[in-house]
Amino acid sequence: MRTAICPGSFDPVTYGHLDIFGRVSLLFDHVIVAVSRNPIKNPLFSIEERVELLKSVLTNYPNIEVSSFEGLTVNYAIKCKAIAIVRGLRVISDFENEFRMALTNKKLACHVETVFLMTKAEYSFINSSTVKEIASFGGSLRSLVPPIVEEKLREKMKTK
Ligand code: ADP
Repeated sequence: MRTAICPGSFDPVTYGHLDIFGRVSLLFDHVIVAVSRNPIKNPLFSIEERVELLKSVLTNYPNIEVSSFEGLTVNYAIKCKAIAIVRGLRVISDFENEFRMALTNKKLACHVETVFLMTKAEYSFINSSTVKEIASFGGSLRSLVPPIVEEKLREKMKTK
């Protein structure tokens, strides 16, 4: 079985992420969307909330599983017996950092490939930070995130 992991913060999941997941699910037998516990970032949603949101928007994908992990992505990939780490590429500025990470991961585990999928043009500008900023000013999120994510963002903003 060919397993891939899609690691990320997903704080929160957007239509840009979902587009990548849908396409990865056609390329691999089993896909693990893995929320990384990154203590340096200051997330809006807890790990548990992000995992729950991902699960609720991925119910239609039987070969996608959602989990979370701590530590190095390659170590988690090895633990999951994944053959690939899948990342989405948006603008050129993503490239430098992603290139560095892919080369580092290859050094750490030479049998785990990094696979990049280009974003769909209409989602190329979406990122979780922009979504949070728009939510904080009460703007419409309809074309950026699924309704359940919009609802949770509104709830979060009320309690902030
Ligand atoms: P990270 O902090 O690990 O970059 P993100 O949640 O920001 O976590 O992104 C997770 C993955 O999803 C990354 O590979 C990122 O490039 C990709 N991604 C984020 N937004 C988009 C988008 N709009 N289109 C395609 N890929 C995206």
